[in-house]
Amino acid sequence: MTSSPPALLYKRVLLKISGEAALGGEAGHGIDIANVDKVAADIAEIVRQGTQVCLVIGGGNIFRGLAGAAQGMERAQADYMGMLATVINALAMQSALERAGVDTRVQSAIPMQTICEPYIRRRAVRHLEKGRVVIFAAGTGSPYFTTDTTAALRAAEMNCEALLKGTSVDGIYTADPKRKPDAERLDRLTYLEYLSKDLRVMDASAIAMMRDSSIPIVVFSIRRPGALMDVMTGQGAHSVITESPAA
Ligand code: UDP
Repeated sequence: MTSSPPALLYKRVLLKISGEAALGGEAGHGIDIANVDKVAADIAEIVRQGTQVCLVIGGGNIFRGLAGAAQGMERAQADYMGMLATVINALAMQSALERAGVDTRVQSAIPMQTICEPYIRRRAVRHLEKGRVVIFAAGTGSPYFTTDTTAALRAAEMNCEALLKGTSVDGIYTADPKRKPDAERLDRLTYLEYLSKDLRVMDASAIAMMRDSSIPIVVFSIRRPGALMDVMTGQGAHSVITESPAA
């Protein structure tokens, strides 16, 4: 007797992946096409199962505004460079997804008509309904924000059922597990617990926005092949943030 595959938990998700963890090469810098292809294969798998995927990619593998500001650059100018870095990553991922047989559109919050569409919410919804992955590039288009807040904003705007945050670690820990081996993974926690513990996996403003919209956040490792499908079926290692722990 063959058992049917586990049902997917969400129909439409926003996947936020860190530039360093998903695209970066050695030490998280630059773009390693082999890594991009691995992540694209995982995304392709959930798209083939019928999931509508919105994608937000960070830019930390290329440039972070805060790093530029720390070296004397004007913060807003440095943040614009960070936003442009996310566009480079979006184009790299678009091409990897299309190699994997997935239709995509890139929409940028900073208009750049020659390489991608401008961000138009209704148009993005239409793309999703047609089975295309929509990659939201250039963050919110405003300095002083991050790609985490971008992910929360787009998840709410696009009526996503969950925000999946793919990082280099398989969940939220009591301390940095790379430095403290006795750190424990918190499998379920509430938005309030996350905020009161001052955890640093995701910006507090992004968490607050997801709380307002009642959208669960799932933190998992994008580095482990197959982890994304596990999250979609409620399996494997990950942490879930919701309003009540039992939800
Ligand atoms: N950024 C911005 N406004 C936004 C989104 C991003 O100014 O709405 C800039 C900011 O400088 C940030 C950089 O883009 O440092 C790259 O994004 P992020 O650091 O969130 O990338 P990640 O750490 O997820 O790879």
